[in-house]
Amino acid sequence: MSNPVRVGHKQTLMGRLQHGQDLLEALTHLCYEEGITLGRVTAIGAVQKAGVAFYDQKEREYRRIEFDRPMELLSLTGNISMKDGKPFIHAHITLGDPCGSVHGGHLDTGTVVYACEYEIHAYSGPELDREYDEATALALWNL
Ligand code: ZN
Repeated sequence: MSNPVRVGHKQTLMGRLQHGQDLLEALTHLCYEEGITLGRVTAIGAVQKAGVAFYDQKEREYRRIEFDRPMELLSLTGNISMKDGKPFIHAHITLGDPCGSVHGGHLDTGTVVYACEYEIHAYSGPELDREYDEATALALWNL
């Protein structure tokens, strides 16, 4: 068991993304622009289509799932840390279909914003880097 890092709350940014932006790329770009390297991100809204991933633990690889239709963005929750020297967002999304059923997964590129309101909570604290983890074949925090 590794020790957690202790972080402090620096500031919160509230805003909205533009219609047609790629959800993951736009949030990541925002972190670059604002110099946010540690934090948490949440968002709600709607997407025109979505690309998520499911991690197959047996094959040790992500399987992509496409939703090529409008969906409600019921919830996006994720964290911001560093990977390969750059801010990196790891986020999961929950999507609602017209019947109220829920789908979702690990947020991937190809998720296109219809409307999106986000909050980014920037933290102060030690740099948190991702590196390859042998047990899972994932890029996990090097704690
Ligand atoms: Zn994930």
